[in-house]
Amino acid sequence: MEIIKSFIESIINIYSNHPKLLLETIILIALCVLLKIYYPKFRGFMGEFWVKLELSKLPKDKYFVFNDIMIKDEKGTHQIDHIVLSKFGIFVIETKNYYGFIKGKEFDNKWIQYLGKNKNYFVNPIHQNYGHIKSLSNLLELEDKYFISVICFSNHAKIDVKSSSIVTQVNDLENEILKYKVLLINNDIKELSNIIISNNIKDKTLRKQHVKNIRIKINNNRALENNMICPKCGNKLVERNGKYGKFIGCSNYPKCKYIKNNITKAGKDTFAQ
Ligand SMILES: [Zn+2]
Repeated sequence: MEIIKSFIESIINIYSNHPKLLLETIILIALCVLLKIYYPKFRGFMGEFWVKLELSKLPKDKYFVFNDIMIKDEKGTHQIDHIVLSKFGIFVIETKNYYGFIKGKEFDNKWIQYLGKNKNYFVNPIHQNYGHIKSLSNLLELEDKYFISVICFSNHAKIDVKSSSIVTQVNDLENEILKYKVLLINNDIKELSNIIISNNIKDKTLRKQHVKNIRIKINNNRALENNMICPKCGNKLVERNGKYGKFIGCSNYPKCKYIKNNITKAGKDTFAQ
């Protein structure tokens, strides 16, 4: 007790003798709090920035780059991180600003992120990107075969994914796109780019609503998961053994392949889909 008392007394002593130091300490604490709150947003922003920078290296006469596009179809709104239009194909890029060790397969429902001893499941981004490609193919009235799915992780992640479609990292993104050299699209690229521009939702309220809808969906799913109910089919969730160890999945397997999400804020930066 005596030690604590003298410690507090000495601190009070220091600050009363150096009032400027007190102000500096308060500013420092405030900065730490702000950093703690905004760090995920900042990381997300930087992740997108590096991808944009990498895509800006593509020759401008052959590649049209679009960042953060939102389009609407009968199923709702789709937020697409990046689209690269070219005669060699339309690259639809889903960025994942995750770190840790990422493991998955093309047709798995969920992929796994290992953060030390923690294991988090997340929706297979190839499946997620397929929805984006579908919405774009409807919009541009082009068949799926003209679209190339690209999943791009940050350079910090370590990737072990078996897939025939592109799963890459920011540093390799440009090279992966430049590998495609065969002329695939006869349509006027400028015309296609005009369709994207004119259908891109810019309205801030609508964009906010999109994010809000995703949050609501995530929260609803989480509430059901906490009650051990499968959000997909309504059956019970049970603990099961898989090739990567224990996990919580649907008791209606193999009809329903739902696996409980367990993404922690520490490993994931944004909820953007
Ligand atoms: Zn289920």
